[in-house]
Amino acid sequence: MESLRSCVKQIQFADDMQEFTKFPTKTGRRSLSRSISQSSTDSYSSAASYTDSSDDEVSPREKQQTNSKGSSNFCVKNIKQAEFGRREIEIAEQDMSALISLRKRAQGEKPLAGAKIVGCTHITAQTAVLIETLCALGAQCRWSACNIYSTQNEVAAALAEAGVAVFAWKGESEDDFWWCIDRCVNMDGWQANMILDDGGDLTHWVYKKYPNVFKKIRGIVEESVTGVHRLYQLSKAGKLCVPAMNVNDSVTKQKFDNLYCCRESILDGLKRTTDVMFGGKQVVVCGYGEVGKGCCAALKALGAIVYITEIDPICALQACMDGFRVVKLNEVIRQVDVVITCTGNKNVVTREHLDRMKNSCIVCNMGHSNTEIDVTSLRTPELTWERVRSQVDHVIWPDGKRVVLLAEGRLLNLSCSTVPTFVLSITATTQALALIELYNAPEGRYKQDVYLLPKKMDEYVASLHLPSFDAHLTELTDDQAKYLGLNKNGPFKPNYYR
Ligand code: NAD
Repeated sequence: MESLRSCVKQIQFADDMQEFTKFPTKTGRRSLSRSISQSSTDSYSSAASYTDSSDDEVSPREKQQTNSKGSSNFCVKNIKQAEFGRREIEIAEQDMSALISLRKRAQGEKPLAGAKIVGCTHITAQTAVLIETLCALGAQCRWSACNIYSTQNEVAAALAEAGVAVFAWKGESEDDFWWCIDRCVNMDGWQANMILDDGGDLTHWVYKKYPNVFKKIRGIVEESVTGVHRLYQLSKAGKLCVPAMNVNDSVTKQKFDNLYCCRESILDGLKRTTDVMFGGKQVVVCGYGEVGKGCCAALKALGAIVYITEIDPICALQACMDGFRVVKLNEVIRQVDVVITCTGNKNVVTREHLDRMKNSCIVCNMGHSNTEIDVTSLRTPELTWERVRSQVDHVIWPDGKRVVLLAEGRLLNLSCSTVPTFVLSITATTQALALIELYNAPEGRYKQDVYLLPKKMDEYVASLHLPSFDAHLTELTDDQAKYLGLNKNGPFKPNYYR
C-alpha cells in the first residue's frame, strides 16, 4: 500500500500553493451558537449530547476523576460514561471511512510522530474520530471545545478514557471555556507545535497569553469562516507569525456543506419542528445559490410546488432550467405555505411580507446570519409570541392569524437538525491532511501567511471518500492527458473551479 507520506507528497502542496488573498468568501459556515466569542456561526456539530439532563450539578472542575489507567490528565463531565461514548464513536466511524483509510495507510509510518497538537473544535463523535486518527498517526493531542453547548459528554469521556487530554463538557460557563483552553495550552513539560482551531478562540488565546508558544508552532489549521477571517486580518497586519491553512474554502467542503448538506437537512429541520407534510405544499425559496439549490432539490423530490426568488439572472435562469417558477416574493407571499431564505442577504422577508402571509405559514432561514427575516419587526406590542416547542414560535396577529417562525430566524438546520456524519468526514479529512502537510513541510515551503488547500488536495479528499460508494474512477490514457493538457494524476480542474 502506498505510504501516507508519499501520498500527501504527491499532492505537491508547494507546487500548488496559493496565497490566501481573496478572503472572505460569503459562503459562510456555521456552528451551534458560538456563545463565548460571539464570533462565529460557521462550523457545526451534529448530535445533541446523549446526556442532556446532566447527572449532577457539581462542576467537572471540582471533581477528582481518573480513567481506568489511573490518568487524571483530563476534565470531563463524567468519565463513567466512556462506554456509551465509545459506541457513538464507533457509529461515526462507519461513515468516516476516509479517516479510517488514512489510519490504515499510516500503519508502520507515523506522519505525525512528534506532533503535539492542541485542538479546539466541537467535541462530538465525529471529531473524536478525527482526534483518534491524529493519535494513530503519531500525534499527541490536547483538546478543548470551541462551543460551550456542543460537547457530547459521553464522547469526551471516551476520549479521556482512551488517553486523550480532553477538557470539555456540555454547558460550560464562559470562565470554564477559557479555563479548558488554558489547560490544553499551559502544561508543564508539554508544548504544542501544531494548532487545530475552529473559530479562532484557541489561536487568539495563544496570541494573548502565550505568544512564546508560537516559536515552536509549525502551523495552524483553521476550519471556520470567522477563524480564517481573523487569520487573514493578522496576516494583513503583518502579525501572523506561523503558516496557516484555510480548510474552510476547499471545494469539497463547500459543496458538501452548502449543497448536499442543505439538501438533506432542510427537510430534517422542518419535519422535526413542524411535522409538516411537503407533498403539494407551496414553498418559496429565496436565493438559488448552492444552499437554495440543495433545498429546492429536496423539496421538489417530496412533491412540493417550489417558487424561487433571485436577483441574479444566471441563477434565475438555472432555476427556470431546473423547472422552478421564478417570481417576486410579493407575487406569491399570500399563497405559500412555507418561506425559506438562503441568500446570505438582509431583510429579504420584511414585516410587510409577514403581514401578508396566510395563517400557519412557516417561515425559516437557511442563510448564515439571522438578518434575512426581519424578526425584530415582529417584536411589537400588537403581536403575541407563543413558544410552542423548542425553536418554534407562533407569532399571532390581532385577527388570530399565526405565522410559524422557526429558530427565531437563525439557521434552521443548525438549530433544529443534525448534520450528516459524511459531511463532517470531508472536513475532518482535509483537517488531518492539512496538519500532516504543515507538520512535514520543509522549512521555507510555507511562509507566515494563510494558504488555501490546493485543488489536488481537494481531489485527494474526494478520492478517499469514493470507496464508500464502490465508485470506480476512470483513468486518463497518456494520449487523453496530453490532449487535455493534464497530468494523469491531477489536478483535473483549475484552481478557480468551484
Ligand atoms: P450563494 O451566493 O451561492 O447563493 C445566494 C443566492 O442568493 C445568490 O444566487 C444571490 O444572487 C441570491 N440573493 C441575494 N440576495 C437576494 C435577494 N434579496 N433575493 C433573492 N435572492 C438573493 O450562497 P450559498 O452558498 O447558497 O449560501 C447562502 C447562505 O447560506 C450564506 O449565508 C451561507 O453562509 C449560508 N450557508 C448555510 C448553510 C447551512 O447549512 N444552512 C451551509 C452553507 C452556507
